[in-house]
Amino acid sequence: MLNGDILSRENDGKSIEQLCDEWRETALQCLKSDNADERNTGIRLLLKACYDHNDFKSGFILYELILEGKLCVSNDKGVLPAQEAAFDVLRNMAGRGSVRASKMLSSLCFERYYHDVQRKILPSPNGPLTDFEGKQIRINRKGIRTPVDAVLEYVDGVNRLTLSANLYFAFCDELPNVEDFIRAIYDGILLWEGDYRVFGNQKLEVRIKLTEEARLTDSIKIIPVTESVAAVSTGFADLIGSKKVRERTYSLINDKRSFATYCIRRWRVTAPRFIYIMSEDGKFDDYEEIKHVVKHEFGHVLGLGDLYRSVSDKLPGVKKGSFAELDSFHIKDNDFYLVMCDHHGTVSNNDIEMVVLAFWKNRMQFYQRRGNKDEISEALGNGN
Ligand SMILES: [Zn+2]
Repeated sequence: MLNGDILSRENDGKSIEQLCDEWRETALQCLKSDNADERNTGIRLLLKACYDHNDFKSGFILYELILEGKLCVSNDKGVLPAQEAAFDVLRNMAGRGSVRASKMLSSLCFERYYHDVQRKILPSPNGPLTDFEGKQIRINRKGIRTPVDAVLEYVDGVNRLTLSANLYFAFCDELPNVEDFIRAIYDGILLWEGDYRVFGNQKLEVRIKLTEEARLTDSIKIIPVTESVAAVSTGFADLIGSKKVRERTYSLINDKRSFATYCIRRWRVTAPRFIYIMSEDGKFDDYEEIKHVVKHEFGHVLGLGDLYRSVSDKLPGVKKGSFAELDSFHIKDNDFYLVMCDHHGTVSNNDIEMVVLAFWKNRMQFYQRRGNKDEISEALGNGN
């Protein structure tokens, strides 16, 4: 008979992978049983493998069991709806580095989005891109004072927003694997490229051109916060601003949070751009994590605020039901599987609409009112 002893058995010198394989196999056997205790043992094995040892194969089995209604998940408020609980499992795995879970979440959210929002929208109109009132949008931000050049063109029936920037990698020499770090930065930024639908379903192509010339001005400075960089961080903070700025920089560095300096300086198209990247273990070698962190930080570089809730940052968060554009990406509570909420999240049509507005109006675009000050972007609540 199969039983829970497997959890407490000696490991016999087996690797974690071998143990997880064993637990998973046993779990699948247990789950076929008519005996409720055995089925529970199966679930416990999968939970242990997935949550204690990052065995994502076990996680995907849990995910399917939840969706099939064979496993109910409850919290203190009662049983969670199956889809919410299943998303939770994916979200957790995505957060711990499962690329498959990330991709699944993204496509599930998009499916909901196309079902909920896009389906109701008329076919794409032709002509140069216009705003919600039908006014033509013109963006031509270029030159040595704009670290990210943004040009909107209508050529051969296609609206295209080209974002060009020079990346300046500062203090990267001491990284153990600088090529991987740089590749993660490029790939993360390029995740903003794509074909989007904005301002009433108008097609918009977003293209990104990156260069890497050795010049400090007119560049996005990419700074991995290694110990020595952290030690001289006041030097950077001095470059950027006031005492308040220095204190803020210190606190971000001490919290080990990656950040773009929008947090400490008012965004405008000519503002200097810095992206500070943190690494929990100081190795800067987690390609997937860095890629997604940069994707989020590049959103700030493009003039977007944060979407998540944070009491310490005076961010109230956005509740489900506030804006139709966000709801399809809602996972639970205040969390949305969108890039400015969760760095693994998707870049949506609405995000791009906000980028267009940021560069057109030369004004940062917010999802929520920080400390009741900022104005919410007109992209929200107006459709895509
Ligand atoms: Zn952020």
